[in-house]
Amino acid sequence: MSAVSCSSVRATVAPKAVAKRDAAKAAKTAKSVSLATPAFAAASLTGPAFAATEALSQTADGVGVAVGGAAAVAAVGGLLIATDPNKRREDMKSSAGGDEAKSVADYFNSTGFERWNKIYGETDDVNKVQMDIRVGHQQTVDKVLDWTAGMDMNGVTVCDAGCGTGSLAIPLALRGASIAASDISSAMVGEAEQRYNAEVAAGKKAPAVAPKFEALGLEECSGKYNMVTCIDVMIHYPTDRVNGMISHLASLSDDKLVISFAPKTMAYSILKRVGELFPGPSKATRAYLHAEEDVEEALNAAGFKVTRREMTATQFYFSRLLECERV
Ligand code: SAH
Repeated sequence: MSAVSCSSVRATVAPKAVAKRDAAKAAKTAKSVSLATPAFAAASLTGPAFAATEALSQTADGVGVAVGGAAAVAAVGGLLIATDPNKRREDMKSSAGGDEAKSVADYFNSTGFERWNKIYGETDDVNKVQMDIRVGHQQTVDKVLDWTAGMDMNGVTVCDAGCGTGSLAIPLALRGASIAASDISSAMVGEAEQRYNAEVAAGKKAPAVAPKFEALGLEECSGKYNMVTCIDVMIHYPTDRVNGMISHLASLSDDKLVISFAPKTMAYSILKRVGELFPGPSKATRAYLHAEEDVEEALNAAGFKVTRREMTATQFYFSRLLECERV
């Protein structure tokens, strides 16, 4: 997930019926191909369903413009390559005093909190795009839960860095894990704590060790854990920062590391540029796509090997998920 400001644009990439069919196809492809980067990129180029993770937040705001079909997207993309995408990023960063992490925290403590709290919640007050993102994100969370389904989570220590409203941390805690859930946004992590308390108040069994919810940037997380998870956070940071983040997260984990990011493929890059063409009010964060080989290289350098890969793609949500183990 993530956000670039483009509140007035909706990138509808193809006529509805075709979009639906191809989205289903893309989702199916993503499900059945576990090492999917090249195949998925190709599928995306011929399908409509790749409104890149950040086009999604633009569209999550609502209203829009139609970009007609993949061919049109490619054509527009060609034009865009000549323009300068960094300028708007820099403008947005300077509005937060040049501090990337601060601008992300500010966003997730204000308009971003309102938007993502709804998307990651159960309210019906979401538009179709937001609903699609909710479904896609839940699929990512479910994949992590499936991967750990065979494990006895009682007493397993987990650091969920960038926990948001607790979509992953809460179910893991309710399965007995000892969780340190943290987020750079106090609003997001505060909501996670409230949701956890509500679950326990409603009768769910609390783990032996109560979860800890803290407002912390992931670089500030410390300690040693059996597992470290960081889901849909890397999209807010450029590659050079992501490398440092991965190596820090890796240093916290004795065993497993589960991380997701928006994959950098040609199709997603084009869509990202389409979104960047339409600046909206400055209420979102920059979004960065990452090449899987870069992420994997950073993981390997930090002493981890990738043991499982998944791609989740709905119409407006794209997330590559890697499970890694200490070598
Ligand atoms: N992992 C959660 C939330 C994803 S939304 C989930 O999958 O449900 C992205 C979250 O990352 C936001 O809550 C945002 O505040 C948080 N975030 C962004 N940059 C961060 C950083 N440097 N450290 C910690 N959290 C960060």
